[in-house]
Amino acid sequence: MEDLFVIGGGLAGCEAAWQAAKRGLTVRLYEMRPIRPTPAHKTGNLAEIVCSNSLGSTLPNRSTGTLMHELQRLDSLLLKCAQESRVPAGHALAVDREKFSQKVQAALTACGRIQIVREEITAIPENLSILASGPLTSPALAQSISQLSGSENLYFYDAVAPIVTAESIDMTVAYWGSRFGRGEKEEGDYINCPFNSRHEYEHFVQELIAAERIPLRGFEAEITSGVQAGKGKYFEACLPIEIMAARGKDTLSYGPLRPLGLRDPRNGGRPYAVVQLRQDDLAGTYFNLVGFQTNLTHSEQARVFRLIPGLQHAVFVRYGQMHRNTYIYAPDVLKPTLQCRQIPQLFIAGQISGVEGYLSNIASGLLAGINAARYFQAKDLIQLPNTTLLGALCEYISTPNPHHFQPMSASFRLIPPFENKIRNKTDRYKAYARRSSSDLNHYLNGFNEAI
Ligand SMILES: Cc1cc2nc3c(=O)[nH]c(=O)nc-3n(C[C@H](O)[C@H](O)[C@H](O)COP(=O)(O)OP(=O)(O)OC[C@H]3O[C@@H](n4cnc5c(N)ncnc54)[C@H](O)[C@@H]3O)c2cc1C
Repeated sequence: MEDLFVIGGGLAGCEAAWQAAKRGLTVRLYEMRPIRPTPAHKTGNLAEIVCSNSLGSTLPNRSTGTLMHELQRLDSLLLKCAQESRVPAGHALAVDREKFSQKVQAALTACGRIQIVREEITAIPENLSILASGPLTSPALAQSISQLSGSENLYFYDAVAPIVTAESIDMTVAYWGSRFGRGEKEEGDYINCPFNSRHEYEHFVQELIAAERIPLRGFEAEITSGVQAGKGKYFEACLPIEIMAARGKDTLSYGPLRPLGLRDPRNGGRPYAVVQLRQDDLAGTYFNLVGFQTNLTHSEQARVFRLIPGLQHAVFVRYGQMHRNTYIYAPDVLKPTLQCRQIPQLFIAGQISGVEGYLSNIASGLLAGINAARYFQAKDLIQLPNTTLLGALCEYISTPNPHHFQPMSASFRLIPPFENKIRNKTDRYKAYARRSSSDLNHYLNGFNEAI
C-alpha cells in the first residue's frame, strides 16, 4: 500500500504528488479521466489546462510574477514544465497545453515513486490523502465532500473561451502587435482584430447581447432569473463576454477590447476597440480569443464572433462553454497548512480548497504535498509567512470570513500593508515582492533541514 493517496491528476494534484514523492513517500495518484470525463477537460492528459493557456504575468511587480518567484524558490515541478513549454505572449507565461501535460506526465512517471491509477474515487479515503479533485469534482465524490464540513457545497459559474485556427484568420484585416510594443516577438505576440468604427463595434455588441445562450439545466435553474438579468452567480474574474457586454455598451471597449497601445502598424491608426487573439500551441496553429469566455450556443458563437473584423471566415476548433465549479467552505474545513481540521490525515488543495487560478492551484498543491509528506514523517507542518503570496492565500481561505466566501487567487490585496504606506502602486508592489522573497528565504533558512 502506498504512503499517500492523491485524488485528482490536475494542476494541484500533480504538483502535490511530485512534492510528496520527492520527499520519499510512495504515492498513488488517482485520475478518473479518460474513463470518466468532465464537462470541460478535452483529453485524458494529466495537468490539462482547460481554458486560457496563460498562467499570468511574469513581471515581478505583479502578483502572478511574485507567486512564480515563490514557486521557483520552492522548486515547483509544474512551473518548470510551464517554462519549458512556453509560447510567446509578451510578459505573460503562456504554454502549449499539450506539451505542458506531456512534460508533467513524463516527470511523474520518471520519478519512480508515483503510481498513476485511472479510476474515479467516490468517497474520501481513510488513509493519508490529498483531495485535489478540482472544480469539476465528480458528483459522487462531491456528495462525500459535502458531508465533510456540515455546511452545503458552494459553487459559482465559470466559462471557457473559444479557439480558432490561425490559417482561418484574415491577416489583411487583423495584424500582429503587443500593447505598447512590449512583446517577445518583433512583430508582437498577439493577433489583433480591430473594430475601426464605433458603429461596427456597437453592432457587434448588440448582436452579442441578443444572441441565444445555452439554457441552464437542473441545479443551475435556481439562478436562471439572475442570469437573464445579467446578474448570475458568476465568478467576477471570468465573466462570460455576453454578460459583460450587457452591463453597458462601453464595458467591452473599456475592458477586454480596449485599444490602448495597439495602433495598426500599417497606417498608425488607433482602432475603436480590439479583440486580441493569443497563441494557443507551440506550433502557432491555434489562437484563443482573449477574454471571450461565453455561454452562447455554438451556432451563435460562430455567427456572432465572425462579425469580429478578421474572423469573418474563422474556423472554430473549440467553442466556449460554461460550467459549474465546486468548492468547500474552507474557513470551516481547513487550517492554513491545508490540513483538514476534522480529519488530520486529509489535506485539500486546488480549486476545491477555495483557491482560484492556475498558478494558485499549483501553489496550493505544492504546499499540500510538502505538508502531507511532513505529516507522514511526523514533522511539524509548515505555514508560510503571510507576507508571501502563498502564505497569505492559505491564511485567507482558512480564516472565518464575515463576507460571502468566494475562491480567491493569490494577490497583493491579501498581504499585510507596510506600516509606512507607499503611495505609488508600482513601487508598493515591488516592495511587496522584495519582502516576499526575503521573508520566504528567512523562513526556509530557519529550518535545520531542507524543506
Ligand atoms: C471551465 C473552467 C475554466 C477555467 N478557466 C481558467 C482560466 O482561464 N484561467 C485560470 O487561471 N483558471 C481557470 N479555471 C480555474 C482553475 O484554475 C482550473 O480549473 C484548474 O485546472 C484547477 O486546478 P485543480 O488542480 O484544482 O483542478 P483540475 O485541474 O480540474 O484537476 C482535478 C482533476 O481531478 C479529476 N477528478 C475529479 N473528480 C475525480 C474523482 N472523483 N476521482 C478521480 N479524479 C477526479 C479531474 O478529472 C481532474 O483531472 C477554470 C476552471 C473551469 C472549470
